[in-house]
Amino acid sequence: MALAATKAPWPAEFVTASPETLGLIMLGADPHAGRLERPAQLAAVADALADGTATARALQERFPGRTPCELAHELGLPVETTDDDPMVGTLWRFAEYRPRPPRIVLYNRGLAPLERTLTGSLAEELLGQATPRQVFVAHELYHHAETIRSDVPIARRHRPTLFRIGNWHWRTGIVALAEIAAGAFAQSLLDLPCHPKILDYVATRSLSNRTVA
Ligand SMILES: [Zn+2]
Repeated sequence: MALAATKAPWPAEFVTASPETLGLIMLGADPHAGRLERPAQLAAVADALADGTATARALQERFPGRTPCELAHELGLPVETTDDDPMVGTLWRFAEYRPRPPRIVLYNRGLAPLERTLTGSLAEELLGQATPRQVFVAHELYHHAETIRSDVPIARRHRPTLFRIGNWHWRTGIVALAEIAAGAFAQSLLDLPCHPKILDYVATRSLSNRTVA
C-alpha cells in the first residue's frame, strides 16, 4: 500500500502559496464568485482573510492560551465525534458545525487519511505544532463565532447581482468566503505555517493513492 507521505504528495506551489492565492482558488470554485469583477474578488478574499484573523485574535484576547477544544468549552459548544461515513455525494467531510443545537462534529473516518499521512516532518511543515483535529475544531469555531455575532456574515458582504429588473436586484452570497475566513481563523489561532486549505489536497492525494494501491 503506497502512502502519500513517501513522495511529494502535492504540487510544491500549494505549500508555498500565499493565503491570498489559495483564497482566490477557493473563490474560483464558488458558483457565484465569477460574477464579481477581479478587483472585487481580490477585495472579498482580503476581507475574508482579515475577518478570520481578527476573529481569532479577539477570541485569544478573551481566553488567552486556550486550545481550540478549550475555547469551544469556554463558549459552551460541545465537540463530538462520529464514525459516520464522511462521504456525501462527492463531498468528503472532515468536520462540520451544526447550529441547532450548536455543536462541532468531527468525522473520525474523514480525518483518518490526514492523520495517517501527516506525521513527522511533513506534519511539522504543514501544521507546525497543531494536529488535524485542532485545525478542524478551530475552523468550525469560526462558523460558530459568525453565527452568534450580530455582524453581516462574510458570505453576504460581497454579493454579486444575479440579475436585475429595473431597480430591483436579485443578489446572492458567496459561501466560499466563509470557508476562506474559517481557514484564516484556524491559521491565526494555531499559528499554522500555511492556510489549512492545503489539507484538502493532502487528503485527496492520500485517498487516491489508497484507491489504486
Ligand atoms: Zn467551513
